[in-house]
Amino acid sequence: MRAFQREFAARRRRQILITALFMVLVVVLAILRRNQPGPVTSLMGVPIKWWLIGFFAVILVAVVVSQRNWRCPACGGPLSRRLNHEFCPKCGASLQ
Ligand SMILES: [Zn+2]
Repeated sequence: MRAFQREFAARRRRQILITALFMVLVVVLAILRRNQPGPVTSLMGVPIKWWLIGFFAVILVAVVVSQRNWRCPACGGPLSRRLNHEFCPKCGASLQ
């Protein structure tokens, strides 16, 4: 296995972790919302606007980290949303 194939495997694991953490956050927020009857002005004592600001900050961080992580280790070109790439679409390097 070449160095950039190992690096691709590491980047793929990080990408899966980023996606999983983001999904867990969405599910937790959905459960919290579901358990709160009526209009939502606060959640667990925190005003809803701070939750929204925090949520958008998390989305922004997830997008930036994902954009920096999900690149071809051989040429640095961006990869598509798929997690399984046999070859880099830009330089054609074998990634797996
Ligand atoms: Zn490439």
